Amino acid sequence: MSAYPDVMDTLVSLAKRRGFIFQSSEIYGGTGSVWDYGPLGVELKNNVKTRWWQTMVRERDDVEGLDAAILMHPKVWEASGHVSGFSDPLVDCKACKARFRADKIGEAVCPRKPSKKPGEHGDCQLTEPRMFNLMFKTFMGPVEESAAVVYLRPETAQGIFVNFLNVQQATRQKVPFGIAQIGKAFRNEITPGNFTFRTREFEQMEMQFFVEPGTDMEWFERWKAARLEWHLGLGLSRDRLEFHQHEPNELAHYARAAFDINFDFGGTLGFQEIEGVHNRSDFDLKQHQEHSGKRLEYVDQAANKRYLPYVIETSVGADRVTLATLVNALREEVVPGETEGRTLLALHPAIAPIKAGVFPLTKKDGQPEMAEKLAAALRKKFPVFYDEAGAIGRRYRRQDEAGTPFGITIDPASTANDDVTIRFRDDMGQIRVSTSKVAQVIGDYLAADHATAEASKAGV
Ligand code: ATP
Repeated sequence: MSAYPDVMDTLVSLAKRRGFIFQSSEIYGGTGSVWDYGPLGVELKNNVKTRWWQTMVRERDDVEGLDAAILMHPKVWEASGHVSGFSDPLVDCKACKARFRADKIGEAVCPRKPSKKPGEHGDCQLTEPRMFNLMFKTFMGPVEESAAVVYLRPETAQGIFVNFLNVQQATRQKVPFGIAQIGKAFRNEITPGNFTFRTREFEQMEMQFFVEPGTDMEWFERWKAARLEWHLGLGLSRDRLEFHQHEPNELAHYARAAFDINFDFGGTLGFQEIEGVHNRSDFDLKQHQEHSGKRLEYVDQAANKRYLPYVIETSVGADRVTLATLVNALREEVVPGETEGRTLLALHPAIAPIKAGVFPLTKKDGQPEMAEKLAAALRKKFPVFYDEAGAIGRRYRRQDEAGTPFGITIDPASTANDDVTIRFRDDMGQIRVSTSKVAQVIGDYLAADHATAEASKAGV
């Protein structure tokens, strides 16, 4: 049980109300564990993905980008071990028809008696566990026969492995170097749930870093540290992040070492994996070399040797980490002097979907004209929301819930003095700024990496 409260229900309704996340096909009753990102959600998730790409690809000269297709040759999944081994143990309850993952039954609840676990209620009739492959199958071409079976990829990593030599030769990178990509993955999860935490269609941000055997553990440690730093830069609280080391019995058959970066989602969910950092040895390249019959060795011309590199993988779910930023940001506060409290999303300004709300205090005396002109100028630099309807307090509150870090208000003095107030979402403090300086002041706040600065102050 976490020290942080369970905010999931509050978040699900806020996310719908403000347009972050909707249930897929809601008017038909919804699709199991598939979610759609609304206008604010798509901006937030894009900001998360862009930050990852910026850190992992653009700011490094030793990592290259890739966008491999979702559909791959079926032999890829035989070589990777997914056809034979990508399964979870499934348990059915004959009484209530619910399904559970046998290895996660301790976290599940009995649908008939939510205070009990499956199997604890007198009526439960659990079957023996049977293995269930998580890959979605479909058919390539018009004939639905076994020769035409293809899979929706359950991870993006294999697209990187099969392109290892293509990328290396095209870019003339030398080992050590990495390949990164962002893309959709699909898993027919038995027990999806907890909003977008575990879904059947999701996006991964994966990077495979190819190193000379023997240097792998050193690179593993470097990537572990770098990835934690990235999550802090997103604004996730330090005390909500931890490393979890896989014990020998948890390690995947190919892995030499594995650490998860866990985030504390609050309530009974508590600390859960948001990213995996794995030392995959040369397992994947070796498998693809054997199954394809093509040599995948790296030729080190300077040292006059050839070898299959080892791989350090960093694998993070774009949806899961976006959910973590929302959980981390949600606050419900009492406002001194007011009867109604306020709900806000204290998102890091750099990932907030809208950066500033622009509000004329009243609809007269030239205020809307001045406000619209300012909004149009700011929109060229960052996303801005213009709102002139209703009480100013209500307008602020709506933007607090949307996670908008700055509110710019044009009042009667503004038209006379050519200045505005900037209100800060988190402490509701206000400053007066000349209109010509607004873009610069907000731009400075957006550029400052508060969380990283805090983290390095704390000596992380
Ligand atoms: P879990 O044990 O939670 O099922 P996993 O160990 O199978 O996860 P990986 O295969 O290591 O996960 O995937 C890497 C990352 O992809 C995870 O850390 C998570 O952020 C994300 N991810 C995996 N499965 C899902 C899913 N069903 N829905 C959303 N994100 C997922």
